[in-house]
Amino acid sequence: MAQHQFQTEVSRLLHLIIHSLYSNREVFLRELVSNASDALDKLKYLTVADEAYKSFSFEPRIDISFNEKDKIIVIRDNGIGMNERDLVESLGTIARSGTKAFLEKLTADAKKDSNLIGQFGVGFYSAFMVADRIEVVSRKAGETGAWKWSSEGKENYDIEPASRDSQGSTVTLYLSAEGAEFAGRWRIDELVKRYSNHVAFPIYLTYEEKEYDSLGKEKSSQTKTDQINAGSALWRRPKSEIKEEDYLEFYKHFGYDPEDPLFYVHTKAEGTQEYITLFYIPKRAPFDLYQSNSKPRVKLYVKRVFITEDDKDLMPSYLRFVRGIIDSEDLPLNVSREILQQNRILSAIKNASVKKLLLEFKNLADNNKEKWEIFISQFNKPLKEGMYQDIGNQELLQDLVRFKSSAVEGWTSFAEYVSRMQSKQKYIYFITGGDEKTLKASPLLEAYTAEGIEVLIMDDEADEIIMPTIQKYKEWHLKGVNKTGADAEISGKQNKDLEKESKPVIEKLKKALGDRVKEVKLSRRLRDSPSCIVADENDLSMQMLQLMKSMGQDLGDAKPILEVNGEHHLVRALKTTEDEQRIGDIAGILLDQALLIEGVKLRDPGEFVKRLNRLIGQGLDA
Ligand code: ADP
Repeated sequence: MAQHQFQTEVSRLLHLIIHSLYSNREVFLRELVSNASDALDKLKYLTVADEAYKSFSFEPRIDISFNEKDKIIVIRDNGIGMNERDLVESLGTIARSGTKAFLEKLTADAKKDSNLIGQFGVGFYSAFMVADRIEVVSRKAGETGAWKWSSEGKENYDIEPASRDSQGSTVTLYLSAEGAEFAGRWRIDELVKRYSNHVAFPIYLTYEEKEYDSLGKEKSSQTKTDQINAGSALWRRPKSEIKEEDYLEFYKHFGYDPEDPLFYVHTKAEGTQEYITLFYIPKRAPFDLYQSNSKPRVKLYVKRVFITEDDKDLMPSYLRFVRGIIDSEDLPLNVSREILQQNRILSAIKNASVKKLLLEFKNLADNNKEKWEIFISQFNKPLKEGMYQDIGNQELLQDLVRFKSSAVEGWTSFAEYVSRMQSKQKYIYFITGGDEKTLKASPLLEAYTAEGIEVLIMDDEADEIIMPTIQKYKEWHLKGVNKTGADAEISGKQNKDLEKESKPVIEKLKKALGDRVKEVKLSRRLRDSPSCIVADENDLSMQMLQLMKSMGQDLGDAKPILEVNGEHHLVRALKTTEDEQRIGDIAGILLDQALLIEGVKLRDPGEFVKRLNRLIGQGLDA
């Protein structure tokens, strides 16, 4: 017998699960049944897809038995099984990315952690909440030897050779005092019906049926085995026969999400292509939505046989929050990953599914305000990604995404913006490059606000990248107000005298600022502020460059265009002075404050402060 040490994270996880999930111990059965069902799926797939397993015949099933007196529960499957190495890798280490992410999020605050644990699948180890000791005897399909893994859920586990008639795994739980209640017929029956009713394979329960005489003495005892789950793939049943709670329960089994979904979409397509899809939209964005290894969550079945789930070709990445299944009648059972990627049938199903989902989202927006608010608060960002990833559905997506606005509170859509547009207005204006507060305070908005032109406030970092790629909404071009040329529609104060008068001031500024700026101009868009920066229409904005730099891409420094307000006293003060230091101070402050207010980091904050103090010391009008 070989003793092994659990990977340190496993020990931590075990400890945590055992101590934080008390009130929800019963989920252990769902987790073990899910594992058994996955093991059956995997073997079933091999028998259709792999030549070596073609002649392998088996009736997939899960068997549960128990012994009330000895407090034992046994869960047995005839699935793929595990050999010695699999046992070490699967049950001795943490291979699952979800679990790793979970451990990284732990706060060491027991209450917060136990909330957190509910958001992740806890898996096999949850059985230690009810058992003092667990044994897994497993034989891998295609191999002859079997192995026994056993552990008390502390620091280590043992592995030794064992025997098993055929392939599959048998998990035996030696229940603790806390778990003893689960070794009973009705308790198991209830839990399987609640959590695992729609597992696609039959789950059998073996029990003793006893008869008693009138004095309460046992007359006879008979061993019986009944199937206790519905066993049909829920999605294959006619919609009219499925109750709301069936959908919700199936989601719990399937979606590894303890919360109910926000809504679901069940579609049966007939005609040139036959397939069924059942998609769920969670109430909350999955924790790993923005991690680069965020997993797709749609599973592919062919005629009820599970094929794959980690295929990015089942859903576009911007819909990676959608969970559910696609079950096709037309795909060949032995599709390989490579074939899937260019399979016409699958891509037709995918396209139709995406369209269907987007239309459902639209339907929600139009008809269910309450759910829509939740939806958009969680999934606006990925939909925006879609706007530039999925050109084919751009129009639909443009109708779905929401923005903040200088004119209204809360979310607004492009369509609503357009409905409020001034009659002569040709463009949709937006501002990017900071948080909502910074953007709303930007001097760049002054003229628009003064002239009653609405500006969309894009305070999402991704907006910086996405918006410049979106040229138009319907016939209206989009314009970032931090770019040159965006002031064309502003009537402004075309004041020839001011222009003439300001010429020498502009010259002084150009000279003082040198190559810190690309250009200095008299602004048409400022009202109260003395200055602002804009980027050339074809340049990246300063904020964008800052963002790229923070992501490790240094594209060098951009030179902004400085626009100044000729009527502001700080600018006027330049007219009357020839003192180079004073001109330098005013110019530096005009530029630096414009950068600061747009959320751009100053290269030399010390210099800015020095100049400011000098000016204050002198008194502006001195
Ligand atoms: P998850 O099922 O989420 O991957 P678990 O902790 O429940 O996480 O299980 C870890 C791994 O152990 C599984 O991914 C699987 O490879 C293996 N495993 C668990 N139970 C079984 C089983 N009954 N048959 C075959 N493999 C199993």
